[in-house]
Amino acid sequence: MSKNSDNGEIRIFRPGACAPVRGNGKRRTPARAVITGGAGFVGSHLCERLLAEGYEVLCLDNLLTSSEKNIAHLGSEPGFAYIPHDVTRPIFIQGPVDYVLHFASPASPQDYLEHPIATLKVGSLGTHNALGLARTKGATFLLASTSEVYGDPEVHPQPESYWGKVNPVGPRSVYDEAKRYAEAVTLAYARTHGVRVRVPRIFNTYGRRMRLNDGRVLPNFMSQALQGEPLTVHGDGSQTRSLCYVSDLVEGIFRLMLLDRDEPIIVNLGNPEEVTVRDLAVEILEVTGSSSAIVYRPLPEDDPRQRRPDTRLVQRILGWSPKVSRREGLRMVLPYFREAVRAVSKEVPDFGAEIVPAMPAAASAL
Ligand code: UDP
Repeated sequence: MSKNSDNGEIRIFRPGACAPVRGNGKRRTPARAVITGGAGFVGSHLCERLLAEGYEVLCLDNLLTSSEKNIAHLGSEPGFAYIPHDVTRPIFIQGPVDYVLHFASPASPQDYLEHPIATLKVGSLGTHNALGLARTKGATFLLASTSEVYGDPEVHPQPESYWGKVNPVGPRSVYDEAKRYAEAVTLAYARTHGVRVRVPRIFNTYGRRMRLNDGRVLPNFMSQALQGEPLTVHGDGSQTRSLCYVSDLVEGIFRLMLLDRDEPIIVNLGNPEEVTVRDLAVEILEVTGSSSAIVYRPLPEDDPRQRRPDTRLVQRILGWSPKVSRREGLRMVLPYFREAVRAVSKEVPDFGAEIVPAMPAAASAL
């Protein structure tokens, strides 16, 4: 599928699909998109969508928090190539590139707290490298930004014009500040080098391929409910989030990518249907038919109190608004979580060899 040559250049051997196209006359070729983090939850849905639209897709990923399983079904698609690559290192791609979609980053609080330096590096060095690629190729650059740039917001709902309230040295700063830097360097490339840039600020999103154990509220509550375990609500559960179904998000990203305007575009992408975390727990108990209890745990440091996108701008410039209600989305995603829980429960426990020597001692102590 792909090969790294001696000089570090990545050569792609896969021929492309047939539409959409670049150029005219005899030399028309499929438009090509590079998706960093393409094996992640959102990235893999994006790979799928662009392939379905006739693009050639090059997926770059180092699998830090993602999985080859997310893209295994795309391996036989003629326009698809997976390139194992850590984008904090320089990116060289042979041939033309029309779009660079930078989605590489740990994204759940649990993941970025576990990988703080990698998160800062992919947001800074990774974004710089991805921008360098876009600049070299004359490609449109799309940065997957986040509602976390607003921190623990004092303005509600959050419009794009709000500058945010972020603790620069708190535990979440590794993600928040990395993404704020990523936005800054993206805008600097637009102003200095004329790169065409789009910055969707993505609010909480859910759907198939979320890792059961990624620590986010929806996979946690789903897996707890489906396994008959108590649902762990942080704090008193009065904090709010607004959850967007992944197909709606991908539609917004696709429209944004194709928007025919030269100036930088920064927009919120999310579903404005707001819910408290406590009410979400109750809804998940209802949808799953579970009789699990709800238990309360300490609120993590700097956990935002409220979050809801102001979607007026995105509605105006892209004509986009989410189609899937939360109720509908929870029902749609339920079979995926049921299957994921079933797969985990079938896994054979790993009795490591190191516990064997301890056994005689434990036995003699009885
Ligand atoms: N949360 C919770 N129980 C969990 C996981 C998360 O109550 O088991 C809360 C978390 O503290 C936050 C909200 O749910 O208030 C959303 O958390 P998530 O990790 O999904 O993403 P965030 O929006 O904080 O980035």
